[in-house]
Amino acid sequence: MVINQQKLELYANKLYRGELARYKEELEEDNIFSIDLFFEEEEKVRRIPVTKSQEKEILDKYKHKCVICNKPYDKDDFEIHHIDGDRSNTVMKNLIPLCHRCHKKVTRNAKAKLKDYQVRAERSEENTSGIPDIEILDVDIPRSEF
Ligand SMILES: [Zn+2]
Repeated sequence: MVINQQKLELYANKLYRGELARYKEELEEDNIFSIDLFFEEEEKVRRIPVTKSQEKEILDKYKHKCVICNKPYDKDDFEIHHIDGDRSNTVMKNLIPLCHRCHKKVTRNAKAKLKDYQVRAERSEENTSGIPDIEILDVDIPRSEF
């Protein structure tokens, strides 16, 4: 199966934007609450499963193929992907059928982008702190001679 790199990049970017929005939201929430359990519970509630009729509608819409590599539908190798990564967003335009391999690639690609963003954000925070790094010099302390 040929991977359509353009489509892969497109969906990875869309997923990245969604993940980034949630990441920023989380950062703000973290400043208000610090009870991790609360967020875990909320996360569970937020996930809304895709219904069987929705699944059928999605497969019909995309001609029973993986959107990225055109692999024909196989019930053991198919996943419904949430384009923006939000599992509670089950509107039709947020859902596409992907084979397992393409789904993994989209997710990996988006996660790498997010990681990259986090690293850059951390770095710029360091730069704006105004406290320069102090270089600890390796100075030989002379031994006292007897
Ligand atoms: Zn595929």
